[in-house]
Amino acid sequence: MNTAHIVHEQRTFFHSNATKSLAYRIAMLTQLKNLLRENESMLYEAIYKDFKKSAFETYTTELGFLFHEIRIAIKSLKKWTKPKRVMSDIANFPSRQLIIPEPLGSVLVIGAWNYPYQLSLAPVIAAIAAGNTVMLKPSEMAFHTSKAMATIINDTFAPQSLHVIEGGVKETTELLTHRFDKIFFTGSTAVGRIVYEAAAKHLTPVVLELGGKSPTFVLEDANINVAARRIVWAKFLNAGQTCIAPDYILVPASLKASLIEALKMEVRRQFSNLEGENYVQIINERNFDRLHECAGTTLISDRSKRIIAPTIFENAQWEDCIMRDEIFGPILPVITYENLEDALDRVKAREKPLACYVYTNSRKKAHRIIDALSFGGGAVNDSIMHLTNPKLPFGGVGASGMGSYHGKHGFDAFSHHKSMLYKGTLFELPFKYAPYSAWKLKLVKFLLG
Ligand code: NAD
Repeated sequence: MNTAHIVHEQRTFFHSNATKSLAYRIAMLTQLKNLLRENESMLYEAIYKDFKKSAFETYTTELGFLFHEIRIAIKSLKKWTKPKRVMSDIANFPSRQLIIPEPLGSVLVIGAWNYPYQLSLAPVIAAIAAGNTVMLKPSEMAFHTSKAMATIINDTFAPQSLHVIEGGVKETTELLTHRFDKIFFTGSTAVGRIVYEAAAKHLTPVVLELGGKSPTFVLEDANINVAARRIVWAKFLNAGQTCIAPDYILVPASLKASLIEALKMEVRRQFSNLEGENYVQIINERNFDRLHECAGTTLISDRSKRIIAPTIFENAQWEDCIMRDEIFGPILPVITYENLEDALDRVKAREKPLACYVYTNSRKKAHRIIDALSFGGGAVNDSIMHLTNPKLPFGGVGASGMGSYHGKHGFDAFSHHKSMLYKGTLFELPFKYAPYSAWKLKLVKFLLG
């Protein structure tokens, strides 16, 4: 079946209203959950082939996350889909007024490779929960996981409900020529622009989950050992290939030496064995080479295994190559500042980041930074962990993206909130009708203020 045909089938199926019932949505989500459970070991094998990710990390950062999202959606769907009554305004008195969530229709999800299951299937779960048909295009860069998802999903689900299309630029470009009711894209800012442009041709709304350079401030009063432990974990998890990983550290010059010592100690503690289950590969040689070009010759690495050791880049400057684009690898530049305001100005002069982290014992000092900068989301005295709570909307701002998801926010991203007014026929406010008069104007002014 070609893509155009499946897109057409999905639209026809959506128009049959079959996807709108709670029973359908819950059955689909349950089936997806069972499918992931039944194929858990095959999914571990596929991701290990792609970049040596362990079962532990695959469960904690991918499958466990998805099971949680499915559980929340199934539990909350009745509440989420229930029309919400709002108070009538005076112009419509007496009447009943409701906000009714409705699915958008046929949607396209384009995934990234770095957390291939989570980033492809979490939006799919949200889209199904909201009552849409879904076309999923995982990233070809994680070849085995893309194949695994395509195999199990396409063998189980009817193509008109949920279908996986595999492929890279060519296939995605073709997919983007079709009209969808929403496109949910996770990936780089550069490709985000391409997707946005293609969507504009059909006036299709988008969610763009993009990247950026996420700054991490460590202030004078921070607990250095705790900061080092949490930053090292968040940065080198997935070998730095995490969209909200701390991209670089900003630290007062007076604190630099002790912070670097603590960071190095943590690297030794958490990542002394790079061959085992604790550390993943760089996704491909292109990215391996890109990281070397940016960092210079200082990296300890093995190209045949695509492994780059966790690296603290001690004397980074704003002008360095490593400070140009999102690093997306296990290199952590540390930049010093004499004056916090200057550091904030430097960050403000760049694109809005996806995340920002502040390590300090003072809430006031943390807010000096949080209130000064615009970014997707973040944490004080932690990194990455704000992503785990589905009650927090996850998404970027400016060049790091638009729209958000997780939990109810995902349901909302794939829903339209329809405003409805219900009136009876017995009562009438006659003064809105012509012919107008001075007393009608007086009354309107009195009522509307
Ligand atoms: P990418 O932009 O290269 O690819 C993403 C998707 O777009 C893939 O499915 C790919 O097949 C497709 N694609 C690539 N080039 C295309 C083109 N010219 N036309 C149409 N489609 C195309 O991104 P990536 O390398 O998979 O992921 C890395 C980037 O994603 C980083 O910038 C990272 O920060 C970002 N990211 C963001 C989030 C988030 O949640 N905000 C999560 C993970 C990754």
